[in-house]
Amino acid sequence: MAKSKFEYVRLFEREDRCLPNTWMVVRVDGKGFHRFSELHSFDKPNDSRALRLMNRAAVAVFREFRDISIGFGHSDEFSFVFRRSTEVYNRRSEKLVSLVTSLFSSAYVYYWGDYFGEEKLQYPPAFDGRIVLYPTDENLRDYLSWRQADVHVNNLYNTCYWNLVLHQKLTPKQAEDRLKGTLASDKNELLFKEFNINYNNLPEIFKKGTTMVRKSVQVNGKPMHAVIPLHCDIIGNKFWVDNPEILKCGKLPLVQIDESYEYFFN
Ligand code: ATP
Ligand code: ATP
Ligand code: MG
Ligand code: MG
Ligand code: MG
Ligand code: MG
Repeated sequence: MAKSKFEYVRLFEREDRCLPNTWMVVRVDGKGFHRFSELHSFDKPNDSRALRLMNRAAVAVFREFRDISIGFGHSDEFSFVFRRSTEVYNRRSEKLVSLVTSLFSSAYVYYWGDYFGEEKLQYPPAFDGRIVLYPTDENLRDYLSWRQADVHVNNLYNTCYWNLVLHQKLTPKQAEDRLKGTLASDKNELLFKEFNINYNNLPEIFKKGTTMVRKSVQVNGKPMHAVIPLHCDIIGNKFWVDNPEILKCGKLPLVQIDESYEYFFN
């Protein structure tokens, strides 16, 4: 096709390739989910349907982008880690952020009814997206540790806050004042003494978030991909020793199917 005289405007577009051999992390986060969660009657402090829907949307992203080696999600956010070596979309940051974010958002809406049933979606939710590069394995692990530590800090606070509001009928302001300046140990004690809750016994998904990993499984004798949601500690070394393929490139390890595994594909 002949070039039009307008073609030159393409020169205004920026080259946006990410540095080679770095971990690329795309993180999406729900816009205004404080309000969204109230409008859609989320259980407080943790709505399990909403967490499982976030995980389902993340699986759609894992299915599309095979070079994602690990993901981590909690609340209204999810991080996707692309392998250092990937050449997907020539490592163009705008392509990656926009495609991951829009696929995640549309999957969230697409699967809404599977998790929320009769609870009608009131408006089209949006997610923001960003990409950050981490040059070393240690930086990447610290990033993931940072997100998991955040789950714990927020969950402990929110569990106290919502018990005070829902069961002691404190106003939001009174609950905030009650918690101001308290240490983790004070919060654990408050939960135990006033609400008979042992924080350690709360579901792991609330305390540790969801770590998504990829494994290979046999289904009817055929090798398939499995995306597996785990709710374990990823700050310590054990997880990384048990799952060495995450940081290295190589074949996915074959694992036995467990009834908690939901997501398989070719
Ligand atoms: P922003 O647009 O800046 O991200 P936001 O209102 O989404 O604003 P966040 O800091 O992202 O603020 O917090 C998300 C909020 O969404 C949480 O504080 C909580 O109120 C709510 N939320 C998200 N997931 C859940 C869930 N599974 N159960 C209950 N509430 C949730
Ligand atoms: P990429 O992912 O690279 O954008 P693509 O398949 O979306 O690949 P485009 O160059 O964006 O390629 O072209 C979009 C294609 O979608 C068109 O070539 C056409 O085949 C189809 N298409 C889009 N809108 C319409 C429409 N309204 N009616 C019929 N076909 C359409
Ligand atoms: Mg935010
Ligand atoms: Mg948000
Ligand atoms: Mg958030
Ligand atoms: Mg197109």
